[in-house]
Amino acid sequence: MKLATLGKTAVVLLSLLFPANRRVNAQIIAVTAGTLIDPDTGTEKAKQTILIDGETIVAVGSELQIPSDAKRIDLSDETVLPGLIDAHDNPEYRFADSRDEMQKAVRENIYWGARVIKIVVDGQDYAYSADDIRFIVAEAARAGRKVAAHVQTERGARAAIEAGVASIEHGWVLTDEDLALAKKNNVVLVSTDFTVAELIADGMEPDAAKRTHEKYVERLKRAWDAGVEVVFGTDVMADVKGAL
Ligand SMILES: [Zn+2]
Repeated sequence: MKLATLGKTAVVLLSLLFPANRRVNAQIIAVTAGTLIDPDTGTEKAKQTILIDGETIVAVGSELQIPSDAKRIDLSDETVLPGLIDAHDNPEYRFADSRDEMQKAVRENIYWGARVIKIVVDGQDYAYSADDIRFIVAEAARAGRKVAAHVQTERGARAAIEAGVASIEHGWVLTDEDLALAKKNNVVLVSTDFTVAELIADGMEPDAAKRTHEKYVERLKRAWDAGVEVVFGTDVMADVKGAL
């Protein structure tokens, strides 16, 4: 919920900075943050250093001893938000229309290592029906995979929620009935909402951007009130990874 109120602040996600930082060389990383947000308490602290060992944050504070061999990352002009996992970015898509094509697309993706099947329900003039999506969910489930569904419209969201996908992504237009059904079917909402500043940067008029953002926040609150699990996604394309 806090996220939606960040406005035009540049937010850097630690988890995006080190997506593949396994303990190969076990180097300590020291991040200097201009402002650090603590999601647990919803508070901010100025001028904090974060020490990261492998994938673990080992210390946070303003007066930390930084090991001399630590790799330093200077984000002293930025706001840093630890602990979030980006649940939504954009892979390549392929076209699958008939049941044969859907089955083949699911199996081919699994063959090549997909751990989740992601479908675009309504990113075009037609939308997959609930039955189409049920077919995909069943095919993926045979291999123990879950289905994430990109939905932009109410119609697409309803179809995906009815079919029992694991998550709907974006979900900008959701009625209270959709949300009640999402709760019942254990469907997670991966919101990918942009800040007002980002909407304006994308070409929206300031007033429209403000209204759009308010709508995003309002539906997030309704989702929260309905008990739907809400997950964060940046919706980043490769060029803006790490900032939103
Ligand atoms: Zn998407």
